[in-house]
Amino acid sequence: MIDKSRRVTGPAGPRDTRRHNLSLVLREVVAAEASSRANLAEATGLTKATVSSLVSELIEAGLLVEGGQDTAGRIGRPGLMLSLNGDSVAGIGLEINVDYLAVCVLDLLGRVRHRRVVRTDNRLSPPDEVINAVARLGRQAIGKAEQQGMLPGGVTVAVPGLVELGEGTLLTAPNLGWRRMPLAAILAERMRRPAPKARIEHQPRVRIENEANLGALGELWEGRGRAWGDFCHISGEIGVGLGIVMGGALLRGSGGLAGEFGHIQVDRDGPRCPCGSLGCLERLVGQEALLATAGIDAELATSIGDPKDGGAAALVARARAGDGRTLAALAEAGDVLGAACGTLVNLLNPATIVLGGIFAPLAPWILEPFRDGLRRCSLATRWQAPRVEVSELGPEAAVRGAASSALRDILADPYLMPRGSKEVS
Ligand SMILES: [Zn+2]
Repeated sequence: MIDKSRRVTGPAGPRDTRRHNLSLVLREVVAAEASSRANLAEATGLTKATVSSLVSELIEAGLLVEGGQDTAGRIGRPGLMLSLNGDSVAGIGLEINVDYLAVCVLDLLGRVRHRRVVRTDNRLSPPDEVINAVARLGRQAIGKAEQQGMLPGGVTVAVPGLVELGEGTLLTAPNLGWRRMPLAAILAERMRRPAPKARIEHQPRVRIENEANLGALGELWEGRGRAWGDFCHISGEIGVGLGIVMGGALLRGSGGLAGEFGHIQVDRDGPRCPCGSLGCLERLVGQEALLATAGIDAELATSIGDPKDGGAAALVARARAGDGRTLAALAEAGDVLGAACGTLVNLLNPATIVLGGIFAPLAPWILEPFRDGLRRCSLATRWQAPRVEVSELGPEAAVRGAASSALRDILADPYLMPRGSKEVS
């Protein structure tokens, strides 16, 4: 397995230098969208001979393709342009959330090759059954990628809880009631398929990551995040998560547990939260709190409205119909959420706050009260108001970020690129 190369410890050797340079060239191609060998040499500071050798290896591995002429009008023989190969490898994103499962397959050009959302209350089934259902979605996604001629490059699973990244342990997912579970290892085992002869002996790596972090990364990599500067992405589901992007990178905190925005206390006399505390933000503005305040039966909720609005479909449908109780619930939630984000602005001074998850389809009704709450509770906002943006990816951001994350691992370490039958040299 190519994977083993990643575990090499000790001083950097020629293989590590080569790995670094392969990634450098790839990242330059991504940044420029397409580039010639001469441009790559100029941009990376590597010699033309080294770049040529690296490019050959990347073409051989299926990561780059060659075609078209360098039209920059340089003197000498025009170089053929190199770009990412969109047909070689797929990133598989999976998501376990409280009331749905989702899957997304992306190629290296960011095109969605397969996606599916299964609405189901995962609190009603034993974890084992939920994990089996996710593994099934993962195996189907790998099959879809292979049918389209791509090898599965890796699987990243978004989960609604705290994650220990190293071993892929889910520490706790309060809204699911799951605790201490070696989820990455369990899923890797259950997604393992018998290798067809002469096709793949490669089994894709499985990683897990907090869904709010992947939501922010999904926006950064696959959405409009690059234009937003430092941003805070709020993902509303049954829980409420936060992904903080500062200087183009995710802020994870010292142990990777930063961003538990949904569990800040906004009312010490408020309702009990499965995390053990009282009056957590998500108990007031999360999907179930909104449905309850709006007087919508949670069981009915999934059968009303447009499924593309996710768990918020019933709220959107009632708000559009002008239902007074729903409109009041959304206005109140917008204000509470805005006030909580005022704290974020006071702490972090982000350039942009992004309303994601169910807050995206609900934005027409929560945006104005949100701005009021933000202004009231943030000193900085009165001097320098952050932009407030509505996510276009909405509830899909996390699973997109998950699929993209699997591909980014390969761009960072091209030796992770799966091969049909050969090892990368
Ligand atoms: Zn809580």
